[in-house]
Amino acid sequence: MELREHGVVIKRCRDCLRVALLYPAVYSAAVASLAYQNIYYMLNSLGYVYAERIVAKSMAGREPPPRSIETNRPLKDFDLVIVPISYELDYVTLLRLLISAGIDTSSSERRRKHQPLIVIGGPVPSSNPVVAREISDLVLIGEAEPLIPRLVEEAYTKGAWNAFDELACLPGFLPASSMSCGRRVKRVWVRDLDKAYHTTMQFRVPGGGEPWGEAYMVEVSRGCLHMCRFCMEAHFLMPLRHRSKERILELVEEGLRVNKVRRVAFYALSFFDHPNADELLEEVIESFKAEATIGSLRADQLDEERLELVARAGQRHIAVAPETFSPRLCRVLGKCIALEKTKSISVEAWRRGLRVKLYLMIGLPGESDEDIEMYARILRNLSKQAPPIREALRVSVNPLIPKPFTPLQFHGLISERDYMRRIRILRAASSKVLSIDALSYRYAYAQAIIARGDERVARILVEWAKLGGRLGQLKTAARISNVDIDKYAYSPSVELIYKWHSLIDNGIPFKTLLYSYEVAKATGLG
Ligand code: SF4
Repeated sequence: MELREHGVVIKRCRDCLRVALLYPAVYSAAVASLAYQNIYYMLNSLGYVYAERIVAKSMAGREPPPRSIETNRPLKDFDLVIVPISYELDYVTLLRLLISAGIDTSSSERRRKHQPLIVIGGPVPSSNPVVAREISDLVLIGEAEPLIPRLVEEAYTKGAWNAFDELACLPGFLPASSMSCGRRVKRVWVRDLDKAYHTTMQFRVPGGGEPWGEAYMVEVSRGCLHMCRFCMEAHFLMPLRHRSKERILELVEEGLRVNKVRRVAFYALSFFDHPNADELLEEVIESFKAEATIGSLRADQLDEERLELVARAGQRHIAVAPETFSPRLCRVLGKCIALEKTKSISVEAWRRGLRVKLYLMIGLPGESDEDIEMYARILRNLSKQAPPIREALRVSVNPLIPKPFTPLQFHGLISERDYMRRIRILRAASSKVLSIDALSYRYAYAQAIIARGDERVARILVEWAKLGGRLGQLKTAARISNVDIDKYAYSPSVELIYKWHSLIDNGIPFKTLLYSYEVAKATGLG
């Protein structure tokens, strides 16, 4: 892999701080993570740090002892391990890798045995610090750019574990549960995106078939002004910030050149909220003679002109997430996209040769089978207007997985029986033109438990990782740990928000969280 890889950093420095940048998933997922790419190059831009990447070989089962891509160095031999956690199940992969490397899963044991310091960060740990601090030594609360340089500077000058002593409980640094701060740890975030580090070089294996293809990824905005009531990303990344058009274009010009690619992948939770979104696309097409990919579009921000622009940018499909077609349920979600809009932009997209992908959510508070029957009728009728090509309309269905620090955090996960029945109702509408995929219930159930878990769930994760981390092994791990996990999925308690809130200050007032609990209790609608 090293020989064929573009963008690998090879350094010769004897007394550098040795950092393992561990991505708890396989290589192709690491390539597509702009956060991971940024941290890799940000760390290696520091003369006294050598950051090497470690990825998983597989997402379940036995893992060979992990070694770095750059120098084949064993994970155990690093001073510091930094791990971005984007998805709840990443914890299990991280634990599988630690176990395989011979690193203890307990923070106090790691310290006693002089093993590497494990630091984790990202939306999942910042949203539920209770689970995160059981698994790591230090949890980064907030964003990487201000926190990681501070961490490695301390680790380089004083040693990794002494850096832990210096930084624990300061803004942005929540220590493992063996240490109590006596106060809430404040979230740290970037005020001005133009001044934040953004890499131009990005690693990949040319022709490796990565999810974005051969593209340079650039972050346009951070946060989202729509603040839908289920959306963890928008709540974690508050407030909305934009990078300036000038800075984005500077990055794009350089990024296309150094990576030798002709495609830009724009990263934003809602791309067309950027005040210069249309001009950015125009510039990419006209000035750079390149193509563009936008992952995140809101149907209510699209019109014929923008669809034309997206098609001219070389995109082959549009993906929009109305989540529901019900004018009643959309109000519970805080995301109402008019059905007529979804229909009209789908038809316009097909006219321009684009395929359409719609995301729907099942298990919303107050939802019934009749709602899903209505969705099936709508999809069947809509697909009649699609061109007669395979999968002109793709529908991806997910259950609502309630996340911490969102107004829907106390809603119970839909039961497996209801979920499967509603999926069957929807699938009855599928045809050659219309395909319907649904997230596995077992995967959603595991996510829901970890998202709203506590110390006991963290113990289960360790057992689960020892078993191999397969979805079917979660319940066995819970039995071994003697923990009833159903309650985390279906009826989380108010004590949880006390726990989350007593540990971190992320700007969301406690009374807001309590209010969402009271509403959930009183109405059953979350
Ligand atoms: S528009 Fe999308 S990204 Fe923004 S808050 Fe809603 S779901 Fe989240």
